[in-house]
Amino acid sequence: MFGIRVLIYLLGIGLVVWILFRLAKAPRVEKKPAKKVDEMVRCARCGMFVPRHDAISEGDRYYCCSQHRDEDR
Ligand SMILES: [Zn+2]
Repeated sequence: MFGIRVLIYLLGIGLVVWILFRLAKAPRVEKKPAKKVDEMVRCARCGMFVPRHDAISEGDRYYCCSQHRDEDR
């Protein structure tokens, strides 16, 4: 009887520790990059400034549209 109670007790502790361990590890909050500020890049063709995520990159150059990219080839 005593052995079983100790065993259950230890299992309970083990479970709590396991849950705590999981809770501590589980919420892996994927930190979104704080760099959300749009960098403005200049079209190598017409010189217009466009947000980097809207620009079309070609090597180390950026273009405002695919047409300008093609024209500048
Ligand atoms: Zn352009």
